[in-house]
Amino acid sequence: MTARKPLIAGNWKMFKTGPEAAETASRLKDLVSDVADVDIMVAPPFTAIAVVKELLRDSFVHVGGQDLFWEVEGAYTGQISAPMLKAAGCTHVIIGHSERRQFFEETNDSVNKKVRAALSEDLIPVVCVGESEAERESNLTSAVVQNQLEEGLAGLTSEEAQYLTVAYEPVWAIGTGKTATTEQAQEVHEFIRERLKTTYGNQVANVVRILYGGSVKPNNIGELMAMADIDGALVGGASLDADSFAAIVRF
Ligand code: PEP
Repeated sequence: MTARKPLIAGNWKMFKTGPEAAETASRLKDLVSDVADVDIMVAPPFTAIAVVKELLRDSFVHVGGQDLFWEVEGAYTGQISAPMLKAAGCTHVIIGHSERRQFFEETNDSVNKKVRAALSEDLIPVVCVGESEAERESNLTSAVVQNQLEEGLAGLTSEEAQYLTVAYEPVWAIGTGKTATTEQAQEVHEFIRERLKTTYGNQVANVVRILYGGSVKPNNIGELMAMADIDGALVGGASLDADSFAAIVRF
């Protein structure tokens, strides 16, 4: 069991119109109204952030963005900046999700710029790392994750790093129904914590939450959360339904 307050975060990806998101958010608000020992965050599509935030205004559920652009403002058609997320009521932002790496040319370098942009607006960056199936099969998991951390977080001070959340999401487990075994997940989480310790010191490594992501469901969250270095989950598919997400929150 983690020594840190758990965070259960829902990534709604490109699902839900404003009215659909509003319906899910209001049901979720009712279902988790008595949960105080777990932090909860949902990341709706940009077009639904305002309505979701409004509905969750007096609840414990935080709202996050699924991505951001590193510039503050400018002629960048289609982009959303950190100050815009902040002003919309976001507290968190997911950065470097594997789908962005796969389909939208996200690199460790762009992750680094986005992390800095988020931190400069006091948004909590939820930085995603994880290996592909081929990389795991070639025993490259640690090397890949280490590289993603080193490049994605390059230049951050310990003072800045304490505000990070890291999400370990093995690419082969996202949306596939395959979950890493609790031992596989714990092994990588422990490795990530060691890397944080080496780079930023014990104090930072002890406060940074490391979430697991990859086909987390109500029936597997309990065993994952029993592991020492798993501090919560980043949930895709199962977060779209308020009842299943609430069941995960109540692991
Ligand atoms: C994700 O989108 O980060 C994710 C882990 O998705 P899923 O839970 O559907 O595997």
